[in-house]
Amino acid sequence: MSSDRVAVATGGCQCGAVRFALYVTPEKAHACHCRMCQRAVGGAFALLAGAKKSDFAWTAGEPAFFRSSNLAQRGFCRDCGTPLTFAYDIPEARMYFTIGSFDDPASIPIEMHYGVESKLPWVEFCEDVAAEATGAGSPAAAEFFAKLASNQS
Ligand SMILES: [Zn+2]
Ligand SMILES: [Zn+2]
Repeated sequence: MSSDRVAVATGGCQCGAVRFALYVTPEKAHACHCRMCQRAVGGAFALLAGAKKSDFAWTAGEPAFFRSSNLAQRGFCRDCGTPLTFAYDIPEARMYFTIGSFDDPASIPIEMHYGVESKLPWVEFCEDVAAEATGAGSPAAAEFFAKLASNQS
């Protein structure tokens, strides 16, 4: 199934041990300012864009995963430590990739800010795109996040 597919976007970690290909245009590009994403990337926010799990492949190696909460896992290169992915456990959830790990991050502009309840007061960029607090999108989202138990220390 993979050999006849054409990669639309590719990327990988800084040492090259892990490489990935998306067979669709990266979807739902966003900045997540939530506290968990800050901790996970060691930065002021995470930049993420995803694809359904059937629409991407690892083309070299595979990441190691840290279960950052009871609801999600975050992938990283076990050799160089680059934060690579975020995904909720539900099967239909997208695998999100860090925009900075794509080969052409300029082609993946963000469409949304999430987790703005934790947005750092001195962070300002792409202020013209929509913004939403964690769990504020819908009652179902609020219910989902109410069950979150962090494994971060
Ligand atoms: Zn690496
Ligand atoms: Zn987040």
